[in-house]
Amino acid sequence: MKPRDDFEICIVGGGATGWAAALAAAEAGRTTAIIAPPATFPIGRTAALFAGSIELLEQFGAMPDLVSAAAPLQAMRLIDDTGRLIRAPEVTFYAGEIGLNVFGYNIPNRRLVEALSERARNSRYITIFEDTASELSFQPDCVHITTGRGTLLKSDLVVGADGARSLVRDKTGIAVRRWRYAQSALVTTLSVTQPHHSVSTEFHTDRGPFTLVPMQGNNVSLVWVERPREASLLCEIPEEEFARRAERSAHSLLGAMQVTSPRVSYPLSAGLADRFASGRALLIGEAAHIFPPIGAQGLNLGLRDVEALKTVLSLNRNRLDEGTATEFHRLRQIDVRSRTLAVDLLNRSLLTGLLPVQALRAIALSAAGGFAPFRRFLMQQGLAKTFQGL
Ligand SMILES: Cc1cc2nc3c(=O)[nH]c(=O)nc-3n(C[C@H](O)[C@H](O)[C@H](O)COP(=O)(O)OP(=O)(O)OC[C@H]3O[C@@H](n4cnc5c(N)ncnc54)[C@H](O)[C@@H]3O)c2cc1C
Repeated sequence: MKPRDDFEICIVGGGATGWAAALAAAEAGRTTAIIAPPATFPIGRTAALFAGSIELLEQFGAMPDLVSAAAPLQAMRLIDDTGRLIRAPEVTFYAGEIGLNVFGYNIPNRRLVEALSERARNSRYITIFEDTASELSFQPDCVHITTGRGTLLKSDLVVGADGARSLVRDKTGIAVRRWRYAQSALVTTLSVTQPHHSVSTEFHTDRGPFTLVPMQGNNVSLVWVERPREASLLCEIPEEEFARRAERSAHSLLGAMQVTSPRVSYPLSAGLADRFASGRALLIGEAAHIFPPIGAQGLNLGLRDVEALKTVLSLNRNRLDEGTATEFHRLRQIDVRSRTLAVDLLNRSLLTGLLPVQALRAIALSAAGGFAPFRRFLMQQGLAKTFQGL
């Protein structure tokens, strides 16, 4: 079959990272195809996006569409609720301490994807195929992508933004390491009677974090990490009882609570691709790295993949080729691997019964609470595009 169209970049996947990648490619003046089936969104799901991600959304001109739905995050409070002998003191990180008004914004996933796809629809460089990719074949000088409806596209590069079960990753032959935790994350949204003051609060329990992230008005999104059986039970009990239990776990910090969206429980897992590029294929977002919903890292990292894509597109001014993909892989190594390790260690440090590990955690958080330069260092690392060193 003769290819229907010839593109410089073809993005597979229409989640937030896919649309952002399409906009980045268009911004670099590249002829871009995006293969994106109609999106579906879990009701009430939000993502806390930090300063770097917000900057990127501003560059794409998407923020004006999002301000009416975005909730600012001005402070982050960590509370040790393990009830253990060795406990860390409470620590609050304020954005103002590092010269920022906000760390970022909590944004509903649906609004984010709608805002990005709307921008893409208005770009003359982007052709949208509302379809799925079903086959990829790597030629010496290009990639052929066949869609579910039988359209054949030809592209210099293909970007896999097709999520955790990425077809692009599989067809490229990049292995992925997956691991599971003996935990589940229960997710829902709540209305509360006390103002959250734009403070995100994370209670660290010995089963995992219980996190309340501000939404607009007196609303919060809840990510409650629990043992799988307990999480299933929490999904099944009547809403009123659930709300009472959530209030108890939050020590009534935000007053009485009411459930405002369906409760969904996800088995906690993570994953990491062996490489982030191979041949003429690049992987971004969950096609490259799957994070448990702890520490709000997943999409922030996915949007940093998009920034790296922007960088390599500006370096390779002429024809895009394997060199572009190799450079992308090199740029993403340290950031993705260090964050994967950090989130894994943070989660495991809560679960462990080992006293030395508990003591180390307590010492680190005490230092953060009592020593402002260390606290500022941690905040800067948290927001940095990659680990910056001491
Ligand atoms: C409960 C929860 C809370 C979270 N909170 C945060 C947070 O606060 N901050 C944060 O940064 N991250 C958070 N995350 C992570 C974040 O949601 C993900 O990192 C992000 O949604 C991944 O986006 P993506 O575009 O890579 O993948 P996806 O959103 O999975 O999109 C992939 C897209 O590809 C499409 N697709 C699949 N196969 C094909 C194909 N063959 N052809 C074409 N298209 C295809 C799919 O239909 C889908 O639309 C959270 C995750 C969870 C589960």
